[in-house]
Amino acid sequence: MAASTAPTSQTHPASLPPSVFTLPQTAQLEALYTIIRDRTTSRGDFLFYSDRIIRLLVEESLNHLPVVPKIVETPTGATYQGIGFEGKICGVSILRAGEAMEAGLREVCRSVRIGKILIQRDEETALPKLFYSKLPEDIASRYVLLLDPMLATGGSAMKAVEVLQEQGVPEERIIFINLIAAPEGLKRFCGRFPSLRVITGWIDQGLNEKSYIIPGLGDFGERRYCE
Ligand code: URA
Repeated sequence: MAASTAPTSQTHPASLPPSVFTLPQTAQLEALYTIIRDRTTSRGDFLFYSDRIIRLLVEESLNHLPVVPKIVETPTGATYQGIGFEGKICGVSILRAGEAMEAGLREVCRSVRIGKILIQRDEETALPKLFYSKLPEDIASRYVLLLDPMLATGGSAMKAVEVLQEQGVPEERIIFINLIAAPEGLKRFCGRFPSLRVITGWIDQGLNEKSYIIPGLGDFGERRYCE
């Protein structure tokens, strides 16, 4: 069979909400996903290749931040009419898997502030419940890059957005970044927060009865942290 440069496995939900942006679906990106989806991939390779995707996602998310004109003088004495980012940003990771995306954010945005939110299922109500949060005190005036690698049902991410909104962060200033999204979760999440942008690397087929993403990559935290 002739070599192809076109990716093959992306699922295109009939109507992707306008607030959802995927990475350019190149063959290179699909090759990275093929490695991290493979159950025989070693933990070392999983770390390396998932970090590569995380970095691409962070770079893409920065394209969604507003910029303002900025004029600088170059060493030649000439002026350059450029641009600069308009506001301050911070990252917020949804524990524990979201923590894996923090290093990728720090590599791209030097000394970025990072907050954390821990959400777990409430045993009594079966609903996502906030257990812990530590957020920058001036978060209401920042753009927030919300980090969670897998958007499955969307329950934890929706709870995390509620927590951010309670701290005064408007929906429009939150960008949710994930590696793989399930169409069901995307639909729920974007239906609830239509002005919040979602940057995802790949949209998969759907969820199984245990709410794992199919084909997915299994449990991201286990793949990343357990040998
Ligand atoms: N979280 C994961 O780690 N994997 C899934 O498939 C869904 C949620």
